[in-house]
Amino acid sequence: MKTIAVLTSGGDAPGMNACIRSVVRSGAAHGLQVIGFRRGFTGLMAGDYIPLGPRAVANIIQRGGTFLGTSRSPEFKGTEGRRKAIDVLEKAGVEGLIVIGGDGSFRGIYDLIRECDIRAVGIPGTIDNDIYGTDVSIGFDTAVNTVLEAIDRIRDTAASHERLFFVEVMGRQSGFIALEVGLAGGAEAVVVPEAPTDIKQLSKVLIDSQHRGKSSSIVIVTEGDEPGVAFTLAEQVKACVGMESRVVVLGHIQRGGSPTAKDRVLATLLGAAAVTALVEGKTGVMVGEINNMVVLTPLPEAWGKKKILDLSRLSLVGTLAG
Ligand code: ADP
Repeated sequence: MKTIAVLTSGGDAPGMNACIRSVVRSGAAHGLQVIGFRRGFTGLMAGDYIPLGPRAVANIIQRGGTFLGTSRSPEFKGTEGRRKAIDVLEKAGVEGLIVIGGDGSFRGIYDLIRECDIRAVGIPGTIDNDIYGTDVSIGFDTAVNTVLEAIDRIRDTAASHERLFFVEVMGRQSGFIALEVGLAGGAEAVVVPEAPTDIKQLSKVLIDSQHRGKSSSIVIVTEGDEPGVAFTLAEQVKACVGMESRVVVLGHIQRGGSPTAKDRVLATLLGAAAVTALVEGKTGVMVGEINNMVVLTPLPEAWGKKKILDLSRLSLVGTLAG
């Protein structure tokens, strides 16, 4: 193998740059040429790429987002779009492709490798942490710390005004961010897609907290498919027990920012592992980290199996709300 390519796809996540750096410099250490496609699959189909030598990735390990850019590309879901991508890869002499992204991106590269001889390896980069085959995905730790800082600030105001706040966080169909920040931020309750929400029960918890003399309450809510669900919950609780509340939808402030040390190290290890996997002839796999060990998981499992949220931690939130 002489040439490999790297791209970032889907939602950006802090640590993607650190991962690209690791891919590029690990590739160079293996004597490989590395190129980088801009704007995810969109740039791949358009042949928009740049050579990436070790100096091209200087001074990016600490930067959020992805300097290569990213995109969502409906065209790549079709065979014609992927045909364009295969032509580009073949003309550029690319034998191995590394894609940093989420489950959608993994489905995309799995379709691609069934239609050509190019090898491909996925690296989990998403703040949602909803990927099977790795304890955490790149960007999760940074997003959790960003959200936590916001919750600490909201707590100051909530306590000063003796208020109830609903704080909506990202996570799509997974409550990993919500549960982590709920525990770390001392939330009174956490609403996750993995457990049914009983409005009467939630309202009772909140009204009981008030009666016990708590000066403030914070409920963390996972956004789910449609952002804004926290407004509905707030209205339902008001209708149930008459409690007024404020709603904060954190939105896109959760995605950016300088990656934490944990995310930089994870990104670095997985970037290097992805290059090793390609060099060893692996394809159709995702590199992840489980119990501090690099683990390869077939791509269909990475998107097809559900990473389980530890629901005992959810009840601990209630216990500790005191
Ligand atoms: P993420 O990788 O973060 O989950 P998306 O779901 O937006 O982000 O997927 C990124 C890109 O991957 C999409 O724009 C599309 O080009 C490709 N993709 C997503 N789902 C599929 C699919 N089922 N089959 C083929 N390609 C897909």
